Amino acid sequence: MYEITTCPPDCNFIDRNHNGLHFVKNNQNLIMPEGPSIVIAKEALEQFKGKKILDVSGYGKLDKKLIKGKTVKEVTTWGKHLIIVLGKKLAIRVHFMLFGSYKINERAAKANPKLSLSFKEGELNFYVSQIVLIQEDLDSVYDWSADIMNKSWDPGKAGDKVLAKPNTFICDVLMDQHIFSGVGNIIKNEVMYSAKLHPENIIADVPKEKINFLTKEVHRYSFDFLKWKRAGTLLKHCNVYKQEYCAVCGGEVTVKDGGKTKRRNYYCEHDQVKYSSDELHSKQHKTSPNKLTPAKGTTVKALTVKATTIKATTNKVAIKKAATNKTTTNNVTTKKAARNKATTKKAISNNTTNKSTTNKTHPKKAKSN
Ligand SMILES: [Zn+2]
Repeated sequence: MYEITTCPPDCNFIDRNHNGLHFVKNNQNLIMPEGPSIVIAKEALEQFKGKKILDVSGYGKLDKKLIKGKTVKEVTTWGKHLIIVLGKKLAIRVHFMLFGSYKINERAAKANPKLSLSFKEGELNFYVSQIVLIQEDLDSVYDWSADIMNKSWDPGKAGDKVLAKPNTFICDVLMDQHIFSGVGNIIKNEVMYSAKLHPENIIADVPKEKINFLTKEVHRYSFDFLKWKRAGTLLKHCNVYKQEYCAVCGGEVTVKDGGKTKRRNYYCEHDQVKYSSDELHSKQHKTSPNKLTPAKGTTVKALTVKATTIKATTNKVAIKKAATNKTTTNNVTTKKAARNKATTKKAISNNTTNKSTTNKTHPKKAKSN
């Protein structure tokens, strides 16, 4: 059963400073819910399907009279929205945001529910969530083909929407809920890693086949996410999110807030390529260079350059590796790293004294040891 807890002192939920309730299962320390997690919530709520709502309470301001007496017809999701359908033009939309959670047939000890639905048998409570009523036909409200978990997911349509934002960072586009509804920070980072794309690429620079790969991968990976989330093994399966070392080259994973949205990116400087607009322009783009150059200059400046690399200070093994690594630094620089250095050189000189790029050492195979 799902539980709410206050954040423990050793909480490693580092996407935001927080002090709220956590969406957790069996005390496993988890992160803000992404599309697949909402599907799990949907499945948990389906026990109320066909049940009549006998009473409605909670401090939420939605019109409770409209809900009371209605029967739950269906529970569905759209990205990060959990939707309790009560009629053709009536549904409750719940967005857990960063700290939202729910409890079934029990209440949190230290929090009042924002919305509480009572049934003949059992009750459903929502905490710290954004909850609104939808009084329209859901098909007119939602584009189901934009939901990464939906069977109607349309990668081609998503690709077109991505290409329509040529001056946007790839890390921001992936978080655009109108294009990739349901993608959160884990899915974003993992698919950029799979695609070998640096998060600070702007769309105009990215080869089209990479965009095509991403729009398919985001859907495919989300079902792996769902499977691992159910099994409680999601973080164990992450290749780059909250990882110290890259599984491919053994280099340190860079952690940096990036894009206009300043959400946290985890990436490998060596394996995830940052394409140069000049290089790509000569190969692929027949569009006006004016479209690329000025926009890139401005967006790059907007970057947050507070770069940090994950420190292995608490990990004795990692310290040992780092020590060993100091002596072998130059021997392990790969061709890939060299190429990457060259492609990022321009961006570095343009904009930042990015500390994260100064560490080119490879604690080779540190992870497997
Ligand atoms: Zn790597």
